[in-house]
Amino acid sequence: MRFFLKKTASIFWFRQDLRLNDNPGLIEAVKHGSIIPIYILDDKNSKEHKMGAASRLWLHYSLTQLNEQLGSPLIIAKGEPEEILTNICTQEVISKVFWNRVYEPWCIKRDKRIKENLTKQNIEVKSFNSSLLWEPWDVLKGDGTPYKVFTPYFRRGCLSAPFPRRPLSKPEKIIFYKTDNLIKSSINDLNLLPNHKWKDKLLVNWKIGEKEAISRLTEFIDFELDDYKEGRNFPTKKNVSRLSPYLHWGEISPNTVWYAVKDRMDLGIGNTKDSDHFLSEIGWREFSYTLLFYFPELPKENLQKRFNKFPWKFDEKKLLAWKKGMTGYPIVDAGMRELWSTGYMHNRLRMIVGSFLVKNLLIHWHEGEKWFWDCLLDADLANNSASWQWIAGCGADAAPYFRIFNPITQGLKFDSEGVYIRKFIPEIANLPNKYIFNPWEAPKDVLEKANVRLGENYPNPIIDLKSSREEALLAFSKLKTLEI
Ligand SMILES: Cc1cc2nc3c(=O)[nH]c(=O)nc-3n(C[C@H](O)[C@H](O)[C@H](O)COP(=O)(O)OP(=O)(O)OC[C@H]3O[C@@H](n4cnc5c(N)ncnc54)[C@H](O)[C@@H]3O)c2cc1C
Repeated sequence: MRFFLKKTASIFWFRQDLRLNDNPGLIEAVKHGSIIPIYILDDKNSKEHKMGAASRLWLHYSLTQLNEQLGSPLIIAKGEPEEILTNICTQEVISKVFWNRVYEPWCIKRDKRIKENLTKQNIEVKSFNSSLLWEPWDVLKGDGTPYKVFTPYFRRGCLSAPFPRRPLSKPEKIIFYKTDNLIKSSINDLNLLPNHKWKDKLLVNWKIGEKEAISRLTEFIDFELDDYKEGRNFPTKKNVSRLSPYLHWGEISPNTVWYAVKDRMDLGIGNTKDSDHFLSEIGWREFSYTLLFYFPELPKENLQKRFNKFPWKFDEKKLLAWKKGMTGYPIVDAGMRELWSTGYMHNRLRMIVGSFLVKNLLIHWHEGEKWFWDCLLDADLANNSASWQWIAGCGADAAPYFRIFNPITQGLKFDSEGVYIRKFIPEIANLPNKYIFNPWEAPKDVLEKANVRLGENYPNPIIDLKSSREEALLAFSKLKTLEI
């Protein structure tokens, strides 16, 4: 890659597409001559959807990797994108701006405004799809309205829609526009890294960037995909892809993932049931984006309006116990500690801890959504809000209100030897399997032998499962009778 001056330059604005392969906007920009690649941190327009701490951490390293891949020409800026882009265009006589679309409601609003205003100044703006297999308007019901139920959306809608685009190769050559006038901030100037030790713990578990995303996909397909359908339920099995942060930041495209699996299936390699199931999970991601697009209030408002009358309780002490993994229910606490110490939580655990928060503690799903938003490396507005609404029962295609996960039976079923619990809760690691899910039922001598002092080095349960379940069922059943 070489730098030289060219008058036909355009700007390529990187957003949630931090990769070179299968990047339609970048490929198009490069066709028009030299480019100015830019990333702009926009904390002003994002308002209440401002990136959480874990996302910022990921972004720091993702930008670092991307800049290295490009040969260090990435312009880094912070502030109002419209102002920044307009200034560069005017200063450098640039007449084209390219980007890939982002579907968060605040981005759609902002990008529409930027496009209108730049167009008025004779600057051409072109946007592309780089992060979805089917954009929300590609898959609609016969009457032109969006699907609200996953199975028909995916089976009838997506699978009979035109095939998704095949992944594109990275540009053979990128010429960078060279000038001394551009912003000279560095990635460090964005102050994305938290200044506490938490970040070092998270980084142990992840390698960030496009190259890592591709090798994660390859390893998953070669060694972990077969048995996905069953194995994905067990937090200690290596059958989930852990691709979610890479997909969120666009270090890999869903098209690359989709065709890597589909082509292997078409060649008759691997178990069809596992590949199919994995593709349907990618379909859930698409579905969440469709919901967010057509119901932009998804992150804040119950899709089923009758839930506006739900008698949520706010109990700060219990919420804090949940966040810290100190509820006294080992499987819940292990999940919450996995989140805090790795920036990730296995999907089975997301469902267990989510159900515990909204159905046993009766705490509003907003609190869970906010905590996940801050702590997850894969925090994603569409997936997070759609999933929390699903858990709470107030979403489009939600878990029925009476589906309350029992933390003890969930533990017995999906962590039967207590391996996951012991990994994240060393205080109770010496308990025998019989009491690892329910330490409060262990006889005194068993607790003593395991060095577990309930109420001292591990909490007593903060709530009674039976009565809290009954209370939730009663509250939920009252909602049934309400008019929507
Ligand atoms: C309460 C709650 C909150 C969640 N918050 C997020 C979030 O902020 N970001 C996020 O990416 N996922 C979220 N999920 C969905 C799911 O838990 C994660 O996508 C998954 O655990 C990521 O791990 P993986 O990549 O190993 O998944 P895999 O099982 O390997 O799945 C592959 C990919 O499919 C997509 N996917 C899988 N399951 C779902 C699902 N249920 N909904 C939407 N997409 C899915 C993801 O992009 C994932 O990377 C949430 C789920 C729950 C129950």
